[in-house]
Amino acid sequence: MTTPSPAIAAARTLLTEVTGREPAGVWSAPGRVNLIGEHTDYNEGYVLPFAIPHRTYAAAALREDARIRVTSTFADEPVEVALAELDEIFPTLSAAPAVPEWSAYALGVAWALRALRPDATTRGLDIAIASDVPVGAGLSSSAAIEGAVASALNELWTLDLDPVTLAQAGRRAENEAVGAPTGIMDQMASMLGRADAATFIDCRSLEAQSVPTGFTPAGLEVLVIDTQVKHSHSTGGYRERRDACERGAALLGIPSLRDASVDDLPRAAELMDDVTFRRVRHVVTENQRVLDTVHTLAEQGPRAIGDLLVASHASMRDDFEISVDELDLAVETALANGAVGARMTGGGFGGAAIALVAHDAVTPIAYAVTRAFADAGYGEPHIFTVRPSDGPRRDA
Ligand code: ADP
Ligand code: MG
Repeated sequence: MTTPSPAIAAARTLLTEVTGREPAGVWSAPGRVNLIGEHTDYNEGYVLPFAIPHRTYAAAALREDARIRVTSTFADEPVEVALAELDEIFPTLSAAPAVPEWSAYALGVAWALRALRPDATTRGLDIAIASDVPVGAGLSSSAAIEGAVASALNELWTLDLDPVTLAQAGRRAENEAVGAPTGIMDQMASMLGRADAATFIDCRSLEAQSVPTGFTPAGLEVLVIDTQVKHSHSTGGYRERRDACERGAALLGIPSLRDASVDDLPRAAELMDDVTFRRVRHVVTENQRVLDTVHTLAEQGPRAIGDLLVASHASMRDDFEISVDELDLAVETALANGAVGARMTGGGFGGAAIALVAHDAVTPIAYAVTRAFADAGYGEPHIFTVRPSDGPRRDA
């Protein structure tokens, strides 16, 4: 089957370099692609992501003292603090935390787990991170690092917490320790991944259900087109969209946009300014598209979901306004060259698009997109295929 990632050895080696010891184990969690359901998670709506083969690995070992040290192949230097200090470092919502941002993902998970189980989380640890999830590409390297660290801590601290609780700890780390106002989708997608299935998540109840995608038997592949345009969640656009959604829900007199349906849109148009209305319309129609996609996959199979993916992209481009020219070009070129469907995926403002394509069309479409980017004067995109994959595991 698949060969083990070199990142497993990289994490082990890094831990040994920093501590002079062997790790007690290596744990990993995957990145994710969102098949459909964008910016619906924090509106308590529906999403349909799947975990990808790219994973982040955490080599870890308990220490004799009560300090935690994290290191990453991605960073210049390890970061070490006393476990008791975590409560002072996070959450300092008004000020930037006193640790480098990358380390707040891992340390924030430790902090969130300590809040859940203060009694069981007193031993210090060393953690070394290596990853093959592209960072900042909309494939959720952040949920992957949170999931890998949460899995390691769950076992080394013998917490025995379930995947949804670990996902919530990851989200808390990202929201409160890092300060990125993201929803629960990424962590749930990573923690609940299953081979050849997407995860249908109700982001209000956190109920989740594996939905077989049937891509492989239908001769389909998912092409990821990473535009290499970097996004950042902590800044402007993402927060502005969240605020618009909250404003829209308040004007409609409902707790969240989850409680609105397509039938409410004419009333919404009367109640709010055009920009807020279009933000609302994206979320409301996107929730419906997720439900339609789940239904269509089960009733008609994956070749029938193309139009829903295309409609989702148009809604993000025109109503939610989170696409960029590179993403639009990737989607248009994939469709013009025979993709079943295509859309940008992830938070937007850069990152990646996905295209659902027949096996034989992978190479021609990848070539066409690369050509189109060159012709437009854009940087070269990074293009690869992904299969829906399993969630966290212990690798060594
Ligand atoms: P995405 O989740 O789409 O990749 P985010 O901005 O949400 O993008 O998360 C990326 C951030 O997560 C990085 O800038 C870094 O701070 C942190 N991160 C991700 N992977 C690693 C890693 N392997 N080592 C250290 N930090 C990482
Ligand atoms: Mg992220």
